[in-house]
Amino acid sequence: MDKEYVGFATLPNQVHRKSVKKGFDFTLMVVGESGLGKSTLVNSLFLTDLYTDREMPSSEECIPQTLEIIKNAVDIEERGVKVKLTIVDTPGFGDALDNSDCWKPIAQYIDQQFEQYFRDESGLNRKNIQDNRVHCILYFISPYGHGLRPLDVEFMKAVHDKVNIVPIIAKADTLTPKEVKVMKQRIRDEIEQYGINIYQFPDCDSDEDEEFKQQDLALKNSIPFAVIGSNEIINENVARPIRGRAYPWGVAEVENKVHCDFSMLRNMLIQTHMQDLKDVTQEVHYENYRAQCIQSLTRIGAKDRSNRNKISRQSITELSLLPLAATEKLIQEKDEELRRMQEMLKMMQQQMQQSQGEQSDAL
Ligand code: GDP
Repeated sequence: MDKEYVGFATLPNQVHRKSVKKGFDFTLMVVGESGLGKSTLVNSLFLTDLYTDREMPSSEECIPQTLEIIKNAVDIEERGVKVKLTIVDTPGFGDALDNSDCWKPIAQYIDQQFEQYFRDESGLNRKNIQDNRVHCILYFISPYGHGLRPLDVEFMKAVHDKVNIVPIIAKADTLTPKEVKVMKQRIRDEIEQYGINIYQFPDCDSDEDEEFKQQDLALKNSIPFAVIGSNEIINENVARPIRGRAYPWGVAEVENKVHCDFSMLRNMLIQTHMQDLKDVTQEVHYENYRAQCIQSLTRIGAKDRSNRNKISRQSITELSLLPLAATEKLIQEKDEELRRMQEMLKMMQQQMQQSQGEQSDAL
């Protein structure tokens, strides 16, 4: 069989040459109940076994299971293009008897990555920041239900302002084409009804050729992608080896566009929209986070200033009871804290002005 390619060698079309040389960071999170085929799909997407030392918990262990966050990183290189891919898996999601709040550790994880980036960005080594922010979540919806379950709605609403969500119907080979169509429509309606903001594909330029426009429309109409995953390559009774699931009545082919949307999802993720997913993470989700942070820092700064006034007034009475050295140390500490915060604020305001300037230059 020809060497299988993941397909990101076309990334130079999406990104500047500099980032291609340096390598390209991308973090994908997979979320969904266990057994929906998350690890199989990830392996099929990136042709690497990311789960070699995975241990399957017994059903007893599963019952009280709490959510874990597991990070796997691989460097993949294809025709000179390097991608540092991080897959964040969330085993245990939705597996406990009581699943209320089971999305919290995931939301916290996403925030922690923003926080780290925010700190690095305000630090000295700004040029070499490692970007661990989650650029996309593949959210697995069970094919056995009748659309979204309450947990699906709750989860997506809890994180939709923090991350790009791409919903997918798992194990699409268990549904007939007609059932897939009905299920997709129902999920799309529910997403709208509940006000869930999933990742929106950018509009295609009006000067693109007709074929490209058709492909773009087909991509948008395929949401949620109905996918099949398999780690097996089938050689028997087929013209050429194929990745698929063999049943007595035939083979469900992972990469066959008639059988499922796997190829469409992979192309979107790796070839056509990786850069846009990163841009939306930076410009929308991270900017939201940063604005909130600056707001709360300003609030803390103002509170601190008023506290400081209080302390100096207090110093005449209560603080005079403290030894002089301790009082001075306390005031010094407060001053230092305030100075650090003001510096950070100033730096962030400069950065904001700079990026606004760059944006208006670009326009
Ligand atoms: P995870 O717990 O979500 O990571 O699920 P796994 O990838 O471990 O898959 C659980 C089971 O589902 C395994 O027996 C897989 O072989 C099977 N499986 C994975 N993907 C598919 C699929 O697309 N269709 C079907 N029918 N089974 C699948």
